[in-house]
Amino acid sequence: MKIEDARVNEFRMLIKPLSLGMQLGGIFLVVMAWLLADDSYKYDTRQIFFLLALTMISIGASWKIPFFSLFSITTVWLICLEFVLLAAPSVNRNYWMTALSIGISLAVAPVFSRISEYIIVSAGIWLIFGRGSLIDAPLGGDTKWSWLLMSAVILVGIFLNALFARIHRQSILLRDKLVDLAFTDALTGIDNRRKFLSDVDRVQGLRDMSSACLLMIDIDNFKRINDDFGHPMGDEVLQQVAQTICRSVTDEPCGRLGGEEFGIFLTQGGEERAIKVADQLLLEIRKLNVIGRKITASVGISKMNEKQSFSELMKNADEALYIAKSLGKDRFAIF
Ligand code: GH3
Ligand code: MG
Ligand code: MG
Repeated sequence: MKIEDARVNEFRMLIKPLSLGMQLGGIFLVVMAWLLADDSYKYDTRQIFFLLALTMISIGASWKIPFFSLFSITTVWLICLEFVLLAAPSVNRNYWMTALSIGISLAVAPVFSRISEYIIVSAGIWLIFGRGSLIDAPLGGDTKWSWLLMSAVILVGIFLNALFARIHRQSILLRDKLVDLAFTDALTGIDNRRKFLSDVDRVQGLRDMSSACLLMIDIDNFKRINDDFGHPMGDEVLQQVAQTICRSVTDEPCGRLGGEEFGIFLTQGGEERAIKVADQLLLEIRKLNVIGRKITASVGISKMNEKQSFSELMKNADEALYIAKSLGKDRFAIF
């Protein structure tokens, strides 16, 4: 269902400018056809003005009505009406109406996000070109053939509509998968450095950051864990520690910065909260039982100052981390 919502939303974003462009194009078409018409053509000026007014109302209403699909449906029908009026004086009217019904029905098939909408639109197209009934065959008679033609065209349109919806769905799935791959750390499953930094960037724009703190966490003596227990066991430790670290926050940015180093960005609560979180985190890590030996980590805390860039904050947290290591590890230090 989520992917269907995404698909329909993307359609709606696309359809509004497309509909606007088509309506403006339609006005241009009507005016040009009127100006360039052969002298033998007798257009009904009132009808033309009425239609232009309808189009302007439709464009104006589109600014107020958020239901874009409706706007796109009326767009197609108004364009059909324009063609009907322009072709009215033609001796080959039915020939043009049939060709236009087929062309427009197929051309708009991929544009509508739902099959139901497409069926409503195409039924309307044929009704408008037939002026309320089935379009007569160009030379009269052949009613059954007219029915067959209309049904076949709408069926092909439904097929095209379903096909495009399927391709669109697959492209959304693929894109979601790629985004996941680009933003997730493959080993631990938590956010990677890129995602962490982009989340930090995003939350910084949302609220006041004067009491934000960065926690930089580094596993102690990890090289020795790898040496003593093997790389696969080291990976297991990384996974468990990563999960423990990111469990300590809910909505705030948390990720693996690289190697055995992690970051948490606490957006509020100041140093007081940062100390609580670090304390609790160190406790949880000590309790992990992965290799039969106590695992510990060190934390560097740095509080955000006014007009400080995030890279300065990282540098400060890194310095605090270095101090925590030099004081004997398994502890936190504040910059
Ligand atoms: P300190 O207590 O000072 O932090 O020492 P340390 O041994 O933890 O730090 P050091 O930087 O010397 O070693 C980090 C090690 O982490 C070296 C590297 O091989 C290992 N490492 C980095 N990424 C991975 C990984 O994805 N999996 C495993 N198993 N090891 C990794
Ligand atoms: Mg380390
Ligand atoms: Mg390190």
